[in-house]
Amino acid sequence: MSESSDYKKIISLVSQHEKWFSESLPLVASENVASRGVREVLSSDLGQRYAEGWPGERVYAGCKYIDQIELSAIDLAKRLFKAEFVDVRPVSGACANLAVYSAISDPGDTLMALSIPNGGHVSAAKKEFSGTAGLVHGLQIEYFAFDKASMNIDVDESKKKLRALRAEGRRLKIVMFGGSLLLFPQPVRELSEVVREIGAVPCYDAAHVAGLIAGGQFQDPLREGAHLMTFSTHKTLFGPQGGAIVAKAEYGDSIKKAVFPGTSSNHHLHNVAAKAMTFAEFLKYGKAYASDVTKNAVVLAERLSELGENVVGENMGFTKSHQVALDVTRYGDGGSVEKKLESMNIIANRQLLPGDLAAGRHYTNPGGVRLGVSELTRLGMKKNDMQEVAEILHLALRTEKVAEVKKRVLSLRKSHQKVHYSFKTSAAYFYAQTGAKSVSSS
Ligand SMILES: *Cc1c(COP(=O)(O)O)cnc(C)c1O
Repeated sequence: MSESSDYKKIISLVSQHEKWFSESLPLVASENVASRGVREVLSSDLGQRYAEGWPGERVYAGCKYIDQIELSAIDLAKRLFKAEFVDVRPVSGACANLAVYSAISDPGDTLMALSIPNGGHVSAAKKEFSGTAGLVHGLQIEYFAFDKASMNIDVDESKKKLRALRAEGRRLKIVMFGGSLLLFPQPVRELSEVVREIGAVPCYDAAHVAGLIAGGQFQDPLREGAHLMTFSTHKTLFGPQGGAIVAKAEYGDSIKKAVFPGTSSNHHLHNVAAKAMTFAEFLKYGKAYASDVTKNAVVLAERLSELGENVVGENMGFTKSHQVALDVTRYGDGGSVEKKLESMNIIANRQLLPGDLAAGRHYTNPGGVRLGVSELTRLGMKKNDMQEVAEILHLALRTEKVAEVKKRVLSLRKSHQKVHYSFKTSAAYFYAQTGAKSVSSS
């Protein structure tokens, strides 16, 4: 009795979540919606198996098909990212970063990355912030010099800083480009030579923009001087939650060991199959998808700005990625705006902006909200829909009429319930419900 009511409760909560998302505007920049093909293999038996090690060199039996699946994933990713070496085993972007730190640096060495308010991620942050690089691998952290006006790394000042750190005798081993608030391509080409000259490895954290890179609509770090690139497989790259590493061949052996056994034992084999499916989808649809994402982001930003909202990066054309950053300090702070929008079925998250810490704002009450158009684009929304999204947001920020906003959200979402840019067009949410039905009828 109680088992069956617990069963029903769990399925019901998942179904309610899916229904809510089907009636909302999902604007979290790190999220996306996965295709039927990805979800089918995610729920397969592979999720129950072990395959520690590398295809063909496993320390477990039963890997005959798993090896072929993983080799396919590697091969597809090599083509997609034009990479010499690929490791699809990291279970998340943060784990991929930790494996890279372990492969090419030792505790006590120094890593340079963006500070968090300037767009950096906690996986490349200091020990005092419980950042993975500092806390787990014992790295010292230095920040890129940042130019707030162009929302980008300051090339000349960062060069000076790199050389000065070297002159002080600091063991600078990793320079990690990329970030979580990433509106514009970064000066990888301009800085990579100096990075190598001082003995560090130029790396790129493409957690957010891997899908745009794969679709040829952002920068191409491996061609611009980066030796290694890590990414999440579920942000603009619309696959399962997971991570991956692509690199020049010379790093292959040390990365393999750092991933297994260094930072994981078994990896997640259902995710490897889902990654393979995602890479295949991207080879076919990635260019069109990434192009629509970047166009949609610009339309959303321009319309919000026309309506009088304070959109970050105006002098640079607002954005070249899937993200739009809004300064919401006139409405209070990003934390309260996030809550208000959520009550209106608009799901977006608060964001620290450059200058927030100096102004006494922190991550609970930052000055910004970050919007991402990846998921709405995958649901088939185009430029005219982005105009409506901007108008709904503008209204939501200024009104207390929750029902009125919800109604407009629902009416926009009605005709956008399917996953596009995939092998089979399928319903975007309602997966648990379908599953529940087939279980009860069996
Ligand atoms: C999201 C993100 C990560 C972490 O990725 P997970 O897959 O959530 O572990 C790492 N780096 C950056 C820049 C990110 O934005």
